[in-house]
Amino acid sequence: MTGATSYNGAFTVAIDGPAAAGKGTISKAVAAHFGFAHLDTGLIYRACGRRVLDGTAPEAAARALRPEDLQADGLRNPEVAQAASRVAAIPEVRAALVEFQRDFARRAGGAVLDGRDIGTVICPEAEVKLFVTAGDEVRAERRYLELCGNGIEVTRADVLADLRARDARDAGRDAAPMLAAADALTLDTSDMAIEQAVAAAIAAVAAQLPRS
Ligand code: C5P
Repeated sequence: MTGATSYNGAFTVAIDGPAAAGKGTISKAVAAHFGFAHLDTGLIYRACGRRVLDGTAPEAAARALRPEDLQADGLRNPEVAQAASRVAAIPEVRAALVEFQRDFARRAGGAVLDGRDIGTVICPEAEVKLFVTAGDEVRAERRYLELCGNGIEVTRADVLADLRARDARDAGRDAAPMLAAADALTLDTSDMAIEQAVAAAIAAVAAQLPRS
């Protein structure tokens, strides 16, 4: 499923939702299918969180961020995830990261961004908005298997507690809370195979792409 379309203008696909709902897999598949660039915005906050754990002040960490920081090792571990969720609640941190994300979103050739506030705050004009969700126990099991697969030692109970804490913080904060945009299509992947979720997302994008 690649290269069905090639697109020269700007075209933004915003994919939001809680941790481990399937956003990342869906975003990568949509980007590959349409030849769009992909930005996992969670990595931006994780890279900031990493710098803060290393002793940098949050706003300074956000201002100093470089694209290559998103490739750093260890950004996927649970300690960094919690640090990311804490720095992400600081309005000055979010403000420092807006321009980079918007520039990425409007690049020529199309872009998929996944995160928590893409359809609501970063790209309210996105051509396609999806909110990908799933029950918390389903998401925790997926994340548990993923972390174990990457050699990170965790328990199921810790993963579930981590997800619930982040969900509560991400949805409850004042600055750009995690929220489905009013015009987003919600995909609940609790009972879906990933192939089904990907197919639904690709169909939603295809329906909005201008015909050449
Ligand atoms: O998506 P991921 O789980 O990697 O994101 C890590 C954390 O970064 C989230 O828990 C959330 O607090 C924050 N985040 C955010 N806004 C985004 C993407 C991620 O606040 N657009």
